[in-house]
Amino acid sequence: MAVARILFVLPLPEPFDYAVPEGMDVRVGSYVTAPLGQTERLGVVWELLGNEAVAGRTLKPVLSVYDVPPMRDAMREFISWGAKYTVSHPGHVLGMTLRARGGLSPSPTETVFHLTGDVPPKLTGARRRVLDAAEEVGAVNAATLAAAAGVSSGVVKGLEKAGALRAEEMAADLPFALPQPDLPGAQLTGEQAEAAAVMKASMRTGGFAAFLLDGVTGSGKTEVYFEAIAEALRVDPDAQILVLLPEIALTQAILSRFEARFGAAPAPWHSGLSDKERRRTWREAAHGRARIVIGARSALFLPYANLKLVIVDEEHDGSYKQEDGVTYHARDMAVMRAKLEGAAVVLASATPALETMVNAEAGRYTRLMLAARPGASRLPDVELVDLRRAPPEKNHWLSPWLIQALKETLAAGEQSLLFLNRRGYAPLVICKACGERLKTPGTENWLTEHRYSGRLVCHVTGYSIPKPSVCPACGAKDSLMGVGPGVERVAEEVRVLMPEARIEIFSSDTAMGGDATRGIIERMETGDIDVLIGTQIVAKGHNFPNLTLVGVVDADSGMKGGDLRAGERTYQLLSQVAGRAGRAERPGRALVQTYAPDNPAMLALADGDRDGFLQIERDVRAELGLPPFGRLAAMIVSAPSAEMVEEACREISLAAPNGAGIELFGPAPAPITVLRGRHRRRFLVKSPRNVDLSAYMAAWLARLKPPRPVRISVDIDPYSF
Ligand code: ADP
Repeated sequence: MAVARILFVLPLPEPFDYAVPEGMDVRVGSYVTAPLGQTERLGVVWELLGNEAVAGRTLKPVLSVYDVPPMRDAMREFISWGAKYTVSHPGHVLGMTLRARGGLSPSPTETVFHLTGDVPPKLTGARRRVLDAAEEVGAVNAATLAAAAGVSSGVVKGLEKAGALRAEEMAADLPFALPQPDLPGAQLTGEQAEAAAVMKASMRTGGFAAFLLDGVTGSGKTEVYFEAIAEALRVDPDAQILVLLPEIALTQAILSRFEARFGAAPAPWHSGLSDKERRRTWREAAHGRARIVIGARSALFLPYANLKLVIVDEEHDGSYKQEDGVTYHARDMAVMRAKLEGAAVVLASATPALETMVNAEAGRYTRLMLAARPGASRLPDVELVDLRRAPPEKNHWLSPWLIQALKETLAAGEQSLLFLNRRGYAPLVICKACGERLKTPGTENWLTEHRYSGRLVCHVTGYSIPKPSVCPACGAKDSLMGVGPGVERVAEEVRVLMPEARIEIFSSDTAMGGDATRGIIERMETGDIDVLIGTQIVAKGHNFPNLTLVGVVDADSGMKGGDLRAGERTYQLLSQVAGRAGRAERPGRALVQTYAPDNPAMLALADGDRDGFLQIERDVRAELGLPPFGRLAAMIVSAPSAEMVEEACREISLAAPNGAGIELFGPAPAPITVLRGRHRRRFLVKSPRNVDLSAYMAAWLARLKPPRPVRISVDIDPYSF
């Protein structure tokens, strides 16, 4: 009798032993159920031991095995490594790979109807319509067929009895169509072809390799990695390719581009999928039938059967960092996953993260450069608008220069984009009578006024109330006033300045869900919008050929708050936004409004001197021993009240182990001070690169026994510092 060591999908530190019943086909990596406490639980066989492991113990039996390919060694190693690195329980990380556990069961079947070719002699009108419909729509279930014919399902059943239709059981989920690598792609330019050739050669050699595809916005990075994907499929038709994108960049436009290039829609994975769609992608990935998977960061945790290539597009994007639960950085995890799978990984960006640049310079990644846009398309000219010299009118947000540029663009029949990373009408509401600033109860978060919905909303916690007519502090009537600009307010200003312009707002409030987003994108493409005013949702991946002016309303907004990554992040976001302009034959320009035109990020934007900017950032980080020149980890302590957190932090602080080269800072308020009713404080730990900071954090955590409502979590490589 063999012993299966099962890791359960539970936050437990280690696997448990079970007996494998005679004749049950259990292997290392099998997905199984076994009794734990009073219930039957899902887990994965982490190890198989021989008879001797029983050693007089009575073990409970494995109850069932799922009929899916066992989890591969590389994936189990990835989970174990990920748990150790992020200081999490392996079962917790395992749970991230089983978000769609319905995918473990075989695809449900349904009964579909085919035409047999026999047509009964006398047909009623209803029966005739069903046969016509069946000819048109093919094999579908009774309800669909009846609906297509405009009759009741009984008519379909009747035709089956009469021998005109034949029933067949079919999997309800169709497999994803196979991508065809040899459909024609773009005619690559010289530098594109060079970059593609290096990646293609690596696909032929096989094994781990890491690339940085460093190309300005619109230089054709997507076209180039398409060629790497095609080559992977030529070398091994069963190869699987994972393409990671930031969640909000996963638009229909990018899916359609894949479909156009490969003749088959990729398998999608993102938060907008239904459970059924999620199960389908999970199952098809596990069986190796989904060849190209395109997804948000968590697609990294799907159980690929034969992963050969991972693309991380917009690799610098902050949304790759998962901040909740198991905190991981999907870019770094993708590199590790590729290494364990013996696959290639491509990090693509116009503004690579400093971490990535340093890795490339150290030779850990091969850097491939695309310096130019193909054809006539040129990078936009970026001009800084010094708001100290050309200020907007009082309570307005657009300087005379930007207003003039907007008017010229409209007159030329071209499109403008105004970027402001603030949803709603005004980011702060104060009382004119008593000076009260309206906040989410119990927190320091300001409430944002949303004028279209007439509500005040907290963008951190989601708390929302109808806008009160009296001040909640002093009771004064009609005294509440929105302060500062949001996209709704800028839209109001543009509407007054250019009443003839067609204006739309593009933010997560106006573009909830795929249809609304598609609508806005289509109206931009067909020229039905003159001025689009948007939050960072506009920054990613859209190509609007007639867009020639980008105006950044408040370039300084991301610089506040003392985060050392703020400069880098602002630079990345603004160059991405500016890169939206002038994609086709028309040259574009970007006007960037700032009160700090001497800031290195602004200067670099205006001069197009990205590498010079990174050099300055790098010197600062090296000087301070910050990533990537040192390591950082955070410990986040949360509890229902601020006092309780402070109390807990005192104990936690005392329990911190000593370690060579370790520096401890804090506790300070966490970047998100209150989340879902819990107050949060954060310790930051800094160490030299050669210290195993995960092990240090694990040792610290092991010493802590916080009282019940206090929660402690570790964030390795925090994004903000
Ligand atoms: P990036 O990913 O670097 O922003 P894309 O791959 O999206 O760039 O390319 C930008 C635009 O240029 C797209 O519309 C793309 O189809 C087009 N393009 C890129 N390379 C070529 C090429 N060699 N020939 C023609 N069009 C190209």
